Amino acid sequence: MQSNCNVIVIANQKGGVGKTTTTENLGIGLAKEGKNVLLIDFDPQADLSASLGIRNSDNLDHTICEALNGTIQDTPINYDDLIIHHNENVDIIPSNIELADFELKLVSVMSRERILDMTLDPLREKYDVILIDCPPSLGMLTINALSCADKVLIPVQAQYLPAKGMTKLLGTINKVQHQINPRIKVLGIAITLANLKTNLGKSTVDTLRENFGQHIKVFDTVIPIGVKAAEATVVGKSVYEHAKDSHVAKAYENLTKEIIRSQKMKHKDSHER
Ligand code: ADP
Ligand code: MG
Repeated sequence: MQSNCNVIVIANQKGGVGKTTTTENLGIGLAKEGKNVLLIDFDPQADLSASLGIRNSDNLDHTICEALNGTIQDTPINYDDLIIHHNENVDIIPSNIELADFELKLVSVMSRERILDMTLDPLREKYDVILIDCPPSLGMLTINALSCADKVLIPVQAQYLPAKGMTKLLGTINKVQHQINPRIKVLGIAITLANLKTNLGKSTVDTLRENFGQHIKVFDTVIPIGVKAAEATVVGKSVYEHAKDSHVAKAYENLTKEIIRSQKMKHKDSHER
């Protein structure tokens, strides 16, 4: 479907690299810049839901699974039931542990790679940006997310050189592009959890830039490691709300602006909502 909506998938099969934190703070950062933003929690661990204060996700009646099941069964989906408005001006569709069972069920489903794409299609006209937080694997859930992506943002932790993992991820993105979703493009790499106070930390960032920068855009903004980011996750708020003057908050604000500049994202007129 043609629309001005940008679907950005945040993916890396390694856990603990800052996918969820980046989804939350980029999403809320984009909302602060005036975009209509929908966040999709697409990890059965439901960390994104929890980090936005939705902690009882396993007891929720309405999650992304309900919508996916509706698509598979060809029954109508009530999106109003699914979408939760967060007070920092973003909408979210939560997930829960049922999504793990759903992934197994997908094996025998028609068009199994496209279920999320079909499910989100009616929402594209309502939002400027849809951000999808992936689980830490390259299984069917991540393939479904990549199949509806316009762009993929790859958070890479500034700790080691994840060359092998990156080759596998880029290989998967290429396959999805050839076989399922020709639109998909890599938006870039965001270096996260960097210890910029030490020489070792700084040289790790330089090494990542040298190694990946020739082939893939590496954003100038580096997200530093900072206790405020971890605290914000625990209290269910963004870093802006929890510690607006922290280095991490400033960095996510800068990353947001850099991404907007790189995309020249268009505003949707508010009457279109
Ligand atoms: P992923 O989704 O890739 O598994 P998360 O975003 O959940 O990674 O981050 C993993 C952990 O690290 C979380 O506990 C989170 O609060 C913490 N964290 C994320 N970014 C930062 C940061 N910049 N500084 C300190 N802790 C962070
Ligand atoms: Mg996560």
